[in-house]
Amino acid sequence: MSKLVMGYWDCPVCGSKEIRGDVVNCPSCGRARGDVKFYVKNYQEGQSLREEELEQFEHLSEEKAASMGSNPDWYCSFCNSLNSDNAQTCGNCGATRADSEANYFDRLKKRQEDEAAEKAAQSRPSSPPPKRRSPLIILAAVLLVIIGVFVWMNGNKTAGDLQVSAVSWTRVINIEENRMFSESDWSLPSGAEQTGTRQEIHHYDSVLDHYEDVEVQRSRQVFDHYEYDLVDNGNGTFREVSHPEYRTEYYTETESRPVYVQVPRYATKYYYNIWRWTPSRDVTATGTDHNPSWPEFTLGKNEREGAHREQYCFTVEHTKNTKDPSVTYRIDEDHWKEINVNDHVFITSRRTGAQPFLSTEKGDKIADLEVVR
Ligand SMILES: [Zn+2]
Ligand SMILES: [Zn+2]
Repeated sequence: MSKLVMGYWDCPVCGSKEIRGDVVNCPSCGRARGDVKFYVKNYQEGQSLREEELEQFEHLSEEKAASMGSNPDWYCSFCNSLNSDNAQTCGNCGATRADSEANYFDRLKKRQEDEAAEKAAQSRPSSPPPKRRSPLIILAAVLLVIIGVFVWMNGNKTAGDLQVSAVSWTRVINIEENRMFSESDWSLPSGAEQTGTRQEIHHYDSVLDHYEDVEVQRSRQVFDHYEYDLVDNGNGTFREVSHPEYRTEYYTETESRPVYVQVPRYATKYYYNIWRWTPSRDVTATGTDHNPSWPEFTLGKNEREGAHREQYCFTVEHTKNTKDPSVTYRIDEDHWKEINVNDHVFITSRRTGAQPFLSTEKGDKIADLEVVR
């Protein structure tokens, strides 16, 4: 048996069904076959078949297959009948093949395209596309809202005409003490008195110890069997086209993997006593006038003068804020000197909660402030 399977066609003129592919004129109405589409009985186009399933189809004999060939039929330009590739003139009207403008596949493709276009044309007027709000407009609206919130948050709020109820200053000097510390390190700092040394673990090194065999699961695609499609030759026959099918095969493989050990590395650690100047105590001077001064102090044994700190503040009464009516602000010394008790000042704060500042009535900045808790 050949690899050719018998096709069938339906007569488009009288509706006669299942006419064999090797018959060129309809047995019912006698018309030559024209705009037809060949098919195989009990087979869906594109369906894949196992080898044993092929047996159910009607195969052409070798002899017949050789006579029909596998080239598509051609359409006669005059009477539109389908003629075998072997024929040089139309079997129906005798016109020459040279005038033919299309073969079976050309015409089939054209018919399918026309059908698709007609379908599209029918479905078009029924449902106009729903009007959707453009994503750009939505984006613009969201942006506007964000910008609006930002502008509002960034806006200034001037708490107007606050009365100063107090001014104050604080000056602090830290006294440092020279103290002895017992410490250890991988090297001896200058000025230290060494008290001893020890060998201790400085770090660990990863060292290759041995290899061990590990079973690893792997998979691969292996050939399983062939499957077959029946493909239209365009002349009343179909050919068997095979394609391989694969399956996933799992297997284990032995892999050699290195095993490392953590080996401690020792080094000399130095133990020593060392003297360091260390913040020890504060001496403070405060006042509620405009004459700040540094506090007086007496240094003890092993003591010296350390860091200086100073703070200048004023307090205002927020009459509208009943929860926290009195607020103290820290300000730089030069601006502080200008602020007197019973003065009226303006303080501006941003809605974002950033630092408030001393301002003019309009909200222009004069000096930074810091709320004292
Ligand atoms: Zn017919
Ligand atoms: Zn013809």
